[in-house]
This record gives sequence, structure tokens and C-alpha cells, in this order.
Amino acid sequence: MGRKFFVGGNWKCNGTVEQVESIVNTLNAGQIASTDVVEVVVSPPYVFLPTVKGKLRPEIQVAAQNCWVKKGGAFTGEVSAEMLVNLGVPWVILGHSERRSLMGESSEFVGEKVAYALAQGLKVIACVGETLEQREAGSTMAVVAEQTKAIADKIKDWTNVVVAYEPVWAIGTGKVATPAQAQEVHANLRDWLKTNVSPEVAESTRIIYGGSVTGASCKELAGQPDVDGFLVGGASLKVNREHKQSRVF
Ligand code: PGA
Repeated sequence: MGRKFFVGGNWKCNGTVEQVESIVNTLNAGQIASTDVVEVVVSPPYVFLPTVKGKLRPEIQVAAQNCWVKKGGAFTGEVSAEMLVNLGVPWVILGHSERRSLMGESSEFVGEKVAYALAQGLKVIACVGETLEQREAGSTMAVVAEQTKAIADKIKDWTNVVVAYEPVWAIGTGKVATPAQAQEVHANLRDWLKTNVSPEVAESTRIIYGGSVTGASCKELAGQPDVDGFLVGGASLKVNREHKQSRVF
């Protein structure tokens, strides 16, 4: 069975009640291919999750942008995986580069979070990716492998994991990876999974690309054999006539 295409919208720390309602209305009015063909997941900030989940048409799912590494308790400001499950939120994004770089989340910590979230029944979009400096030093694959290994060390079942390759230099910069650049890392990552996890996991795990994806760049990227979808930041917040009329996903 082929890998189902996956399109995620990462709204990050953006939006007002009014803006969120406008995006939800646009998504509800838009044309989306059948859920047999594509999985569409949007990730609003925590405070909007219940509303967005309640208002979106049922074939569009929601994801949290993070969750705590273990059971809840005296962890002021955190949200636990159990709470997300209790709310009926099916997905969570973990290890986003902004959390790694701004909040100091290590690969090991991200691996622990992925394992804990999966164990509670969440599905995980696990992000990996190199900085520009690392790319220029030729260590892209070493970085991506190290981040993926920290996850592989902690989990056995990859059924509910989507890996998002998000080169840091492409996030929010307008500098999207070329289809060849994305394909090269995705193929290497799949190869890494084949060697270090199993051929079955390599074949079935979706590897999606994120970093300045727009309606203009997505088609050619989607044509690459190892690109199984996208995690879209900035462009997922844009509500305009073009989105309403064209088939974006
Ligand atoms: P971007 O963000 O599309 O705005 O580059 C992608 C992401 O960080 O997930």
C-alpha cells in the first residue's frame, strides 16, 4: 500500500479569534481531495484547539504544536499528552526547530516526548532538520540521522509517526529547498530508516517536507518520489481568493 499524502498547516504562535475563524471558514469552504488520498491536519495554538476542532469539517484533523514529556502535574505552563487525548486531539508536532533552538529542546528530550506522546495514543509529526551552517559544513545527513536516532532509540512502533524534514535555513525565510535538495535528504532518511529500523518502517513511514512551502512550490516538490507531503507554516495562514478557488491540497 502506498503512503497517503499528508498536508499539515503549522500556525505557530499566530492568530486572533477573528483570524482563526476566518481560516477555519476558508478551509471549510475549500476543495480537498478525498481522505483516501490525502490527510489534512492543521495545528493552531493550544488556546484555539477546542474551537478549531469543533468548527472544522470532520475530514480536517487538528494537531497540537507541542506537549509535555511526561504525565501532567506541577509543570506550570505545560500541556500534557493526556489532556490532548482527553480533548480528542489526534496529532501533536514535536521537535520543531523553533522549540529545539529557542527552548533548548535536545534530540534526546524530543525522543522522550515522542515516545511518551505515542504511548498515550497521540500521533506524532516529528521534526528534524539542519541549520545553514551544518549544511554548508556538509553535515546535513549526520544531523538528521542523529535527530532521528534519538527518536528511534525510544520507540518501536512507527505506525503513528510522520517525520517532517524541515531544514532550518528554509523555515520562514522564503528560501524553499529545491525539489532535488528535498528528495536527496528524504531518500537518505528513508535509507537510514531501512538500515537502522527496518525496511518495512522505511517503506511505510511518511517523510514530509517543511520550509517556505507555498502553493507555487508544492507541486514540483510533491512530484519527488520520497516527498510524502508538507508541513506548511506561513502559507497556511494566508486566506485569499486563490486559496478559496483553487485546489490547494
Ligand atoms: P514556513 O514554516 O512554511 O513558514 O517556512 C514551516 C514550519 O516551520 O513548519
